[in-house]
Amino acid sequence: MRKQLVAGNWKMNKTLEEGLDLIQSVFDKLDEHPNGPVVFGTPYPFLQAAAKRIKSREGFYLAAQNCHHEDKGAYTGEVSVDMLASVGVDYVIIGHSERRQYFHETNAQLAQKVNLALAKGLLPIFCCGEPLDIREQGTHVEYVADQLKASLFHLPESDFRKIVIAYEPIWAIGTGKTASTAQAQEMHAALRNLLAGKYGQSVADDTTILYGGSCNAQNAAELFSQPDVDGGLIGGASLKADDFVAIIQAMG
Ligand code: PEP
Repeated sequence: MRKQLVAGNWKMNKTLEEGLDLIQSVFDKLDEHPNGPVVFGTPYPFLQAAAKRIKSREGFYLAAQNCHHEDKGAYTGEVSVDMLASVGVDYVIIGHSERRQYFHETNAQLAQKVNLALAKGLLPIFCCGEPLDIREQGTHVEYVADQLKASLFHLPESDFRKIVIAYEPIWAIGTGKTASTAQAQEMHAALRNLLAGKYGQSVADDTTILYGGSCNAQNAAELFSQPDVDGGLIGGASLKADDFVAIIQAMG
């Protein structure tokens, strides 16, 4: 059975105190149990403290925003999957477009990250999405399909079942320009179809596919009502408790 899920990606925002306050405010404002897992994607230095806070509340989980693609070693300043697991991280965001763009992460490195995460018991939230010029050329479905094929399709079915996919059109991230519900649904259905071809219909039906890109308190319910949109990966709107709570409540 596929699950709905909402994940916040704080990116490089907030201090530890502000972050813990945000988590507490979200807890305080939600009196009902969320309809699917809610994930806080905090910066690395907050993970351990956030884990303590989050583990006290059922239905809430912790994500790192990245991990290194090697297991361990002389990579000054980097953070391994083992380190994340050791402080109580549940999910790891892999392949965010900002990492691909600013840190030149390749499909091959992302495949290594996915393998390591799964080997150490972390659940990957794998991001994919096309830039504006590709959307304008009309080759967006092929472009995103190639990202999945290159970084995920080596996985056996049992591992693939642990992956959450986040479709995030790059032109919609942080721009206030959301994909229309039709654009989101078109891509999500195409990806599910691709998964059916590779892993079979049951895996395709069970895979959680999130939308990300200027999703907010106003548009979340409509986006999430699309048959193949199972929730959201939320950047800017995850930084304000009221907005994030409204998005959590938009999971029907
Ligand atoms: C993101 O960075 O994953 C994202 C979706 O950002 P925003 O919601 O701010 O567009």
